[in-house]
Amino acid sequence: MRIPLAKPDIMQREIDLVNEVLRTGVLSIGLKVEQFERDMCDYIGVKHAVAVNSGTSGLHLLVRALGIGNDDEVITTPFSFVASSNCVLFEGGKPIFVDIDPKTFNLDINQIESKITKKTKAILAVDVFGQPYDMEAILMIAKKYNLKVIDDSCEAIGSKYKNIKVGSRGDGAVFAFYPNKQMTTAEGGIIVTNDDYIADLCRSMRSQGRAITGTWLYHERVGYNYRLSELHAALGIAQLERLDDMLAEREKVAQTYNRYLSKIEGVTVPYIAPEVTRMSWFVYVIQVQNHRDEIMNYLLEQGISCKPYFTPIHLQPYFLEMGYKEGNFPITEDIGNRSIALPFFNKLSEEEIQYVSEHLAKAVSQFC
Ligand SMILES: *Cc1c(COP(=O)(O)O)cnc(C)c1O
Repeated sequence: MRIPLAKPDIMQREIDLVNEVLRTGVLSIGLKVEQFERDMCDYIGVKHAVAVNSGTSGLHLLVRALGIGNDDEVITTPFSFVASSNCVLFEGGKPIFVDIDPKTFNLDINQIESKITKKTKAILAVDVFGQPYDMEAILMIAKKYNLKVIDDSCEAIGSKYKNIKVGSRGDGAVFAFYPNKQMTTAEGGIIVTNDDYIADLCRSMRSQGRAITGTWLYHERVGYNYRLSELHAALGIAQLERLDDMLAEREKVAQTYNRYLSKIEGVTVPYIAPEVTRMSWFVYVIQVQNHRDEIMNYLLEQGISCKPYFTPIHLQPYFLEMGYKEGNFPITEDIGNRSIALPFFNKLSEEEIQYVSEHLAKAVSQFC
């Protein structure tokens, strides 16, 4: 049996909508992007959505729109995909890492205040693996120190914390649509915000710094080409229509995994905080006690795709050059060393989950 790590879920509706765009001949700057943005505003419950060509582009624009620049410090997590720190580096800012909570893998709220200095401008928190962080606590700290809040919700579209959807609070949030995410536009992302000024700035910078009126060849500021094409937006519209159904399928797959894996001694299944009233599962990540790499190699030999999630950001080569070292963030490093992302997608069958579980059990008993 061969089981991939992730698999996009594309149906006839997606194909029809993309083909419709191809037939109209309007391939960029058209009605599909506008519709996708309106649909996203309705889904999340926010005033503005600005579609872009990747999650990383969205984070970059948000960082710029908030005026984060040279030597500004941004509190963030080392346990994430590198884009959440890179977007600060792009603008000459400095990511200031705070270690994570050992159960949820989100920023350890209790360690944030000790890292705040006169240079701190914002908190950029990540909903790791789809699990929302405690937004109330982060907003309280932000208010006390007059900081901006950037929500990297690239892994968490549709998740709810105390019944509030991620992305609807804070200064702005970003969702991402690479094919391994809960919904995809092939490549793409979207910024959501309730702030008119931030939305206008992001919209302008997305398209070469043009004025909001869109006047051609009139550029008010430095901008980029971070636009999402009409084809990608059409794909996004169709995926968003089915997002809640897809999230329900993912929940079922996660529950089936939990059922099989919680019986295996030495395997820790994902912990979801009780305040999370809906989990939008991005990946399914377990921890083993030791010999992670041997276990992964064994699974790979059985045709079971798996990956270490995450290699800590501060241990990436260019961060080591900035002076970070092993030992700086012990919980992040420990979880990073013991984690395995298992195959996880909407249509993963119980038979496949059983196959993964049996081989995982075998590997754990053999190596541990
Ligand atoms: C996927 C992801 C992003 C954005 O990735 P892109 O490939 O640029 O769309 C950003 N942050 C996190 C935490 C992510 O998982």
